[in-house]
Amino acid sequence: MKHRYIFVVGGVMSGVGKGVTTASIGKILQSRGLSVTAIKIDPYVNVDAGTMNPVEHGEVFVTDDGDETDQDMGNYERFLETDLTGINYMTTGRVYQTVIEKERNLEYKGKCVEVVPHIPLEVIRRIKNATQIAKADVTMVEVGGTVGEYQNILFLEAARMMHLEDPENVLFVLVSYLPVPKHLGEMKTKPTQYATRTLNSAGIHPDFIVCRGEQFMDKPRREKLSVFCNVKPEAVITAPDVPSIYDIPALFESQGLSTTILKKFRIKPRATDLRTWKAMAAVQSAAKRTVKIGVVGKYFATGDYTLSDSYISVIEALKAAAWGHKVKIQLDWINSEDFETNPKSIVRLKSYDGILVPGGFGTRGIEGIIAAIRYCREKKVPYFGLCYGMQLACVEFARHVLGKTTAHTVEVDEATIDPIIHVSPIQLKNIRENRYGGTMRLGAFDCKLKPGTRTAKAYRASIISERHRHRYEFNNDYAAAIEKKGLMITGVNPGSGLVEIVELKNHPFFIGVQFHPEFRSRPLSPHPLFKAFIAAALK
Ligand code: GLN
Repeated sequence: MKHRYIFVVGGVMSGVGKGVTTASIGKILQSRGLSVTAIKIDPYVNVDAGTMNPVEHGEVFVTDDGDETDQDMGNYERFLETDLTGINYMTTGRVYQTVIEKERNLEYKGKCVEVVPHIPLEVIRRIKNATQIAKADVTMVEVGGTVGEYQNILFLEAARMMHLEDPENVLFVLVSYLPVPKHLGEMKTKPTQYATRTLNSAGIHPDFIVCRGEQFMDKPRREKLSVFCNVKPEAVITAPDVPSIYDIPALFESQGLSTTILKKFRIKPRATDLRTWKAMAAVQSAAKRTVKIGVVGKYFATGDYTLSDSYISVIEALKAAAWGHKVKIQLDWINSEDFETNPKSIVRLKSYDGILVPGGFGTRGIEGIIAAIRYCREKKVPYFGLCYGMQLACVEFARHVLGKTTAHTVEVDEATIDPIIHVSPIQLKNIRENRYGGTMRLGAFDCKLKPGTRTAKAYRASIISERHRHRYEFNNDYAAAIEKKGLMITGVNPGSGLVEIVELKNHPFFIGVQFHPEFRSRPLSPHPLFKAFIAAALK
């Protein structure tokens, strides 16, 4: 089997959508019948994304096998409709860690182990390994960072070496940015020309340039970039800002991108089919009815942009579920700290069709979240709690229904007399010994559902598997008490007996899950619980 590789690198600046470009190119190749996988390379020394602050780095995306990866991996899974694993993710730290381990194990057989070539060779080994495991016709490899910086040089070196070995089966895409300065009102190509030259000086020539910008690029500029950057005009792709990231595959196809790629790879043309994808992407602008969902959490001071990056899978799962019901969605961020400073403001929750509390960590804004959950429970507003949102729903129930007024999670109050959310001895040891990296309860675990419940009806299954990322757990000492008062335990891990799902009786929708269902949602196959939540919200 012949494997092909497409490296996607960034020029000019970061944050222009390399991840979505990578995912979209993968999508259009997949729509032509090729099997596609994707790899994300992060230039950080961190071994994984789990120890990085989501405000700075965005969401930590968890794979089935429990790797804590970059949010772009979520885009790949959603666009390619496939499950990826830790093999599809690497960082500088991870690559060095393997090389050092191999050296300690005498695997280099007495050789002097050097940064070049041993580091790029390990990168190549990982790329080929992921390709083989996925049996991919095409592997998309996104190199994080921007060309010209020191951090990603060894990854570019790996890409260059792969091209040297097999030039016909390795392509490069430069994702660049074309600014339109206000005082000129004209799209400028010079930064992209410089980025191309910088890439050239790393021994790499782009086969395609994807030109991000506020506007469409016109013909004169396309021709100019073609000549100045030594790239065919049909390989200069315009990628203006569009209303939805899901519009991008069709935007690329309108410029014949997959046909040009197939030609370059000498693959016989095959029919393309993006119809269902396009129909999904059209719902938000075409639908008449809107569902209004409030997401309650602590507000990150850096604003909406950061929020949407930190919770990207939750947002995409909510969108997918709404679109699955053929309605558009309005999402509002609600700062839980407002309810602490101004308790009366809680009534604003009334204007929402449903309230979601996503995962989180720490102490800030927690009392506000608990107040919001109480409001939803008492006023029968549909409520969906994910991970911390489930744990805090249990805290709220213990306090206001069981009358255990000081009940808490030990994450916030270590000495609480009613630790309804507690910590296992193993996790306690991790915390005491400062062993934080990759030590949470991570990855996919089975969950047995209680027949006849709302949850089981939504899933239409008796055993499910969902991805986890948490340190704390529901304390089973309180199981009988909460069930007696109507908060049913409707999902349990068969092996450990850990509580995974709680569901309130006599409420239009009140479900808390210890896992992160958002990681399994796909735009074309929305998650059953998100769909059920939106269905309840629409009622
Ligand atoms: N902070 C909680 C825990 O560690 C919840 C984690 C989460 O929401 N992902 O258990």
